[in-house]
Amino acid sequence: MSPTFLPLERWGFPIERFFLSAGPCSAESEEQVLETAKAVAGTGVSFFRAGIWKPRTHPGHFEGVGTEGLRWLGKVREEYGLAVGVEVATPQHVEECLRHGVDLVWVGARTTPNPFAVQALADSLKDTGLPLLVKNPISPDLELWMGAIERFLGAGLVKVAAIHRGFSSSEKDEYRFSPQWKWPIELKRKWPHLPLLCDPSHICGKRDLLYGVAQEALDLLFDGLMIEVHPNPDAALSDSSQQLTPSDFRDLIGRLTLKHEESSETVQRRLKELRNEVDGLDHRLLQLLSRRMSVVRRMAELKNQGNVSTFQPHRWEEIVESRIQEGMELGLSSRCVFDLLQAIHEEAIEQQEDVLNSENAEAAEDLE
Ligand code: PEP
Ligand code: MN
Repeated sequence: MSPTFLPLERWGFPIERFFLSAGPCSAESEEQVLETAKAVAGTGVSFFRAGIWKPRTHPGHFEGVGTEGLRWLGKVREEYGLAVGVEVATPQHVEECLRHGVDLVWVGARTTPNPFAVQALADSLKDTGLPLLVKNPISPDLELWMGAIERFLGAGLVKVAAIHRGFSSSEKDEYRFSPQWKWPIELKRKWPHLPLLCDPSHICGKRDLLYGVAQEALDLLFDGLMIEVHPNPDAALSDSSQQLTPSDFRDLIGRLTLKHEESSETVQRRLKELRNEVDGLDHRLLQLLSRRMSVVRRMAELKNQGNVSTFQPHRWEEIVESRIQEGMELGLSSRCVFDLLQAIHEEAIEQQEDVLNSENAEAAEDLE
């Protein structure tokens, strides 16, 4: 059963078109924080973000200004009427945030996968009612992401949302952290009421890609965005190549189109026809796959008789190359064809192993 999540509309933050967070990767100085806040105030921002304690991959880099920055955020609230949010990684961070009247906290991608750290945070947040966002773990592990959220729900928090910030991937693509949309989509399928935000800044790693990813998140019905904004990105002390200038930020927000699940009657009718077509094609795909597996099982019997290995590296190589080529000629991406082939190949190997195991069991029975 899906846990209880309070919809974002009831969190008490302003929402214009969608839930929106903007602000620098890191608070660097009072001037930088206030200048950014002034520039994003009035753009429909739900809360102003700034990293105070920065989890850096390598030591020796700028690790945040610490508690002092919370006073600057206090000024952001006073002077610009913006709610403020920061990343927390320890109970001490939570304590400081509560002392300084921070309106929302989030858990970063390097903390989410650590159950000890998450439980300590959940204990420190118990009964505070503080709104909380949980970023996905860096590796694509849905269970760890859900497990972290469950720990916070267990501490009685109801203003809980998830942030998709991309995943570390061994496959090289143009993103800093690969979007792999299938994971947040699967999270939403499992927990349909969980508010879901997207952080295109950390996914992209470079500002040119930001618009496409932000729009894709809205196309996929994400509830909002978190975007890094800095008055002078090139001089930023962290994540300089992905932060937007305030004017680029305004421009990007203005270009984004909000999508809806419901559509007009004509669109709905046409969609229904197309969906029927897709249903029929899926049905045929499954039937074909099942037929392909029957052939594979016959091959397994033959391989067993001839003592031939289940896995045939050369044949596999040939299949991958030729199918990717053919798929691309048909307008499919090589990633899609490869992922599909891998899933089919894995099933084929399991089916062959199944045939071998039952043949071996029969042979053993005959010997008895
Ligand atoms: C951040 O939002 O500044 C941050 C460090 O993000 P992440 O945890 O997604 O790397
Ligand atoms: Mn950052």
